[in-house]
Amino acid sequence: MTELPLLSVEIVRRRIAERQTTATALAEACFGAIAAANPRLNVYLTLSPERARAQAEKIDRLADRGLPLPPLAGVPVAVKDVLSTRGLRTTCGSRMLENYLPQYDATAVERLEAAGAVILGKVNCDEFAMGSSNENSAYGPVRNPWDTERVPGGSSGGSAAAVAAGLGVAALGSDTGGSIRQPAAFCGVVGLLPTYGRVSRFGLVAFGSSLDHVGPLARSAKDAAYLLAAIAGADPKDATSADVPVPDYVAELEQPIAGLKIGIPREAFAAAGETGGLDAGVNAAVRGALDALERAGCQLVEIRLPHTEYATATYYLIATAEASANLARYDGVRYGFRAPEAESLRAMYRQTRDHGFGAEVKRRILLGTYALSAGYYDAYYRRAQRVRARIAEDYRQAFQQVDVIAMPTTPTPAFRIGERIEDPLRMYLNDIYTVSADLAGVPAISLPCGLAGGLPVGVQFTGNYFAESLLLRLAHHYERLRGPIGPPPAFATPGGNGAQ
Ligand code: GLN
Repeated sequence: MTELPLLSVEIVRRRIAERQTTATALAEACFGAIAAANPRLNVYLTLSPERARAQAEKIDRLADRGLPLPPLAGVPVAVKDVLSTRGLRTTCGSRMLENYLPQYDATAVERLEAAGAVILGKVNCDEFAMGSSNENSAYGPVRNPWDTERVPGGSSGGSAAAVAAGLGVAALGSDTGGSIRQPAAFCGVVGLLPTYGRVSRFGLVAFGSSLDHVGPLARSAKDAAYLLAAIAGADPKDATSADVPVPDYVAELEQPIAGLKIGIPREAFAAAGETGGLDAGVNAAVRGALDALERAGCQLVEIRLPHTEYATATYYLIATAEASANLARYDGVRYGFRAPEAESLRAMYRQTRDHGFGAEVKRRILLGTYALSAGYYDAYYRRAQRVRARIAEDYRQAFQQVDVIAMPTTPTPAFRIGERIEDPLRMYLNDIYTVSADLAGVPAISLPCGLAGGLPVGVQFTGNYFAESLLLRLAHHYERLRGPIGPPPAFATPGGNGAQ
């Protein structure tokens, strides 16, 4: 019996190369683990066993012949269900796309497979990636593997939970205002938001196009580096992808970190106090991480990000405005669901959108349409764009002083399912630490830095444009200082699947 994949990218590849296991056996072990755990966690919405087997056999044939294996050879991967997969159902967590089969693969998916990864299936998320808790999925909430009464975070909650529970070695997620980093923090895994343009958005179903990013979730910085190396780089199919050379992220991990200047924004800790409070356990864990880095030779410098307090409001104006435009395409004609038996075309549009979208998506379409309407455009949308430029300028100034900025990923650890869903404003304030990197387009990483009340806490490092290599390196060194965290207790036995 092959062990379940609480394995790293390198160990998977080595074991396959050395014929201790096969990519096929690993994929089968994953499907076994998923079958055991999915009824409790609700992570996978669609499995792709045939596609996985075909890819695994390809890798196994290379290993049989003793040929060199590609970097992600045989690595089982989960894909957030907002990334298009050819012929494989892509729901975006919405009834609107319940039976939608894309005609093509997202570039990130295509590149993962080209690098040897085995795609296991599509994982649950908030509807059209709108949410911070996964409770907005039309297919029910994902449960946090650390405590199944709690949310895994959103919107890439399925991706984070899959990685934490060993239902895949790594995953792809998307981040528009925090959706890779926040669930990574809640589930005790690593999540990387790349620079805007670093990874192609082709095939990512659009939410807020100027804010949407594709990125990896993994159990270590090194695994995240392997995934990013595979998916990064210019793509002729995405005009906003950047033609900037892709460094060897894995090789650069070992460069030293002593002497790095880490900025601690005063506002990050102060602002949380005004909006319901930075949890004491989160604060302690993040401070502990910073102390460890200081002892390792990094220099901590207090900095200012003066426009932090406006970031959440700015994000929710711009993201909803762009969403209202992007989601106009779901009209019952072009894609997916169509309300049956409407008596007129207008009624068909109305009923399709009424039945196809959930409450949060409708709320955002309404807010976004309002913010873009002729009478209010200047007061809301245009002003938000101006503040966005100031937020980017805050970062520009900060990176003249420091190499990296550190702060918590979230004000609290994972909250209970149902606790905040009735109060959208409270839910939005959860994003206080994550939205500004998306608004500025700079990269950021979240990685576990301890537990608070038995739940994982994430520390977040933000870097200058295209500084992913530096972020991964800092994270990699910090992981060594920190020692292991996780897996979640119910998933801790070697080869365990959380079944009790
Ligand atoms: N929580 C934020 C929102 O609800 C971010 C979502 C995201 O990054 N996709 O919009």
